Amino acid sequence: MHKVLGLIGGMSWESSAHYYRMINEQVRDALGGTHSARLLMWSFDFADIEALQRAGDWPAATRAMVDVARRLEAAGATAIVICTNTMHLMADEVQAAISVPLLHIADPVGELIRAAGLQRVGLLGTVFTMEQDFYRARLAQRYGLEVLVPPADDRAQVHRIIYEELVQGRALPASREVYRGVMQRLVGRGAQAIILGCTEIMLLVGADDASVPLFDTAALHAQAAAAHLLAAG
Ligand code: GLU
Repeated sequence: MHKVLGLIGGMSWESSAHYYRMINEQVRDALGGTHSARLLMWSFDFADIEALQRAGDWPAATRAMVDVARRLEAAGATAIVICTNTMHLMADEVQAAISVPLLHIADPVGELIRAAGLQRVGLLGTVFTMEQDFYRARLAQRYGLEVLVPPADDRAQVHRIIYEELVQGRALPASREVYRGVMQRLVGRGAQAIILGCTEIMLLVGADDASVPLFDTAALHAQAAAAHLLAAG
């Protein structure tokens, strides 16, 4: 039976579009010719999700993710991919509600950083990802990483730029400078690498913007998703 990905996207569509392209490119590169990725995507109106996040209504946000994961499984998905770091806050509940694997976004980045022999990493993302335990704890417990987050004022700036600019498709030079400064301060505290722990950050910064390696969670997650499609069995 063919493998089929079930992507939970629209958070934001800017990054979901990149997932779609990256997964298809990897399948094409692996199989050649006219091959492309078998996938389903549910794309939320991010305004609905963002309102729940802002209100701290995580139970409603969890119900929304679980409902869509079930729909995608019922439609034939053989693995579920939540195309955002933040909405892995309810990853355990989603996994418990379905019988196919949820490909967790923190796993490929954790594996790669550990394989690179790095241990102390800086994390950029929404305040939910930077401040709550669901993401940092997985990196620490499963991959032995020491995760540094920026101080509160830097966290607020990183978060504001994600919601007011990046998810709306705007990558402003002034905001790139802000991110460069935040990353440099993390490096000053000993970060050996920076995790771009929000799927839109790669719209703003690239390898030239930091003095340490950047690990883009969206690209690595898309790679893991493509690997699911390409795996035998
Ligand atoms: N895409 C972002 C992330 O990776 C932020 C949007 C969201 O809150 O889902 O966390």
